[in-house]
Amino acid sequence: MPDTAANALTTTASEALLERARAVIPGGVNSPVRAFRAVGGAPRFVRSAQGPWLFDADGNRYVDLLCSWGPMILGHARADVLEAVEKAAAQGFSFGTPSENEVLLAEEIVARVEPVEQVRLVSSGTEATMSAIRLARGFTGRSVIVKFAGCYHGHVDALLAAAGSGVATFALPDSAGVPAEMTAETIVLPYNDLAAVEEVFAARGSEIAAVITEAAPGNMGVVPPAPGFTEGLRRITAAHGALLVSDEVMTGFRCSKAGWYGLEGPYAAGAPDLFTFGKVMGGGFPAAAFGGRADVMARLAPEGPVYQAGTLSGNPVATAAGLATLRGCTDDLYPRLQSTASAIADAASAALSSEGVAHTVQWAGSMFSIFFREDAVTNYDQARDQDTAAFGRFFHSMLDQGVHLPPSAFEAWFVSGSHDEEALQVIADALPAAARAAAAAS
Ligand SMILES: *Cc1c(COP(=O)(O)O)cnc(C)c1O
Repeated sequence: MPDTAANALTTTASEALLERARAVIPGGVNSPVRAFRAVGGAPRFVRSAQGPWLFDADGNRYVDLLCSWGPMILGHARADVLEAVEKAAAQGFSFGTPSENEVLLAEEIVARVEPVEQVRLVSSGTEATMSAIRLARGFTGRSVIVKFAGCYHGHVDALLAAAGSGVATFALPDSAGVPAEMTAETIVLPYNDLAAVEEVFAARGSEIAAVITEAAPGNMGVVPPAPGFTEGLRRITAAHGALLVSDEVMTGFRCSKAGWYGLEGPYAAGAPDLFTFGKVMGGGFPAAAFGGRADVMARLAPEGPVYQAGTLSGNPVATAAGLATLRGCTDDLYPRLQSTASAIADAASAALSSEGVAHTVQWAGSMFSIFFREDAVTNYDQARDQDTAAFGRFFHSMLDQGVHLPPSAFEAWFVSGSHDEEALQVIADALPAAARAAAAAS
């Protein structure tokens, strides 16, 4: 791939930082998928970001199609969000008492997602799903949780089974350090398989506290629910007195103003009981939430017996960033995200087709991913059956040409409202060589 090699960037500053990082941080990274293990090579240390651009420690510029794994839906350091953050920070960093921003953010979420009557704010998506599971168990007095293979719900012990992306990337069946007892009450079923759900409820329905699902999975690549799947989960769980937890940490406020629920709901069989949110609602800061039916949420301490807490929960700076970001997620943003994403996906698909690279593009709102295989993907086994080496070559060619994709074939690509003509042109210019790299024998 001489055209790619000729464009290779200088990355000595990133490499030096990685070497120092490795001495003091395991693998040199604070979240495993950042380490590029799935695609080889060394991650770029980013020094700053603005709009659709990342700037690394060597001064290279990249179009950002990672968007911090979803949160940066308005683009980096947008002026109005920055102003809200600066204003909040100037008034103090953390109070350990209630404050108005928490109320405003909770009101914004409740106003957007119709079935959500109350929310509790936390600091990460992992905390949100962990707490939602505890609440579902406390509410039902049952302990079994059903999840789907390829769905990731954060690194909650009980949910760290067949958990997609980071775990998929490393081909780890499970994580060490999770005792068997922690997942003994977790049942993992194939995604989009209602018959399997019916079967397990027929056998153990009275023991099942909840089914948790990604509203539209993005952590095995984008695999939307088949028509009727979410509805079926609602019908089956309701019939057996189990809760349905819709994990919208990735899709929330990204797929539409009301997340995936806004695209697919309302459901004739009823809404999910609980939702989890994160990513976009923090605007790049640590803010996340779980919420839903008021009678379920009333079981939380201090009103009820289910304990849940956080020193930094509802942090005034994080909630200011989240609120400004959600307020920026206006009606006109979503069609713009969609047309930007379509332009990128169409161009990528055309480039791959012209080099004869097998691929399929899948969507959930403006979230999409490209599987390096011919056929559509409806579950995790199919997602894993793709040419990840071809993706790796494609990824590195794009990176060398100034486009930062998610560093794994099992991730969604994210766009922002700030991706403009210039950013799209850089992507378009990079695609032909990247497609040739993908097509080249490994
Ligand atoms: C990212 C993600 C999580 C975990 O959120 P963190 O903030 O990384 O802990 C949970 N569920 C889904 C669907 C996610 O995409």
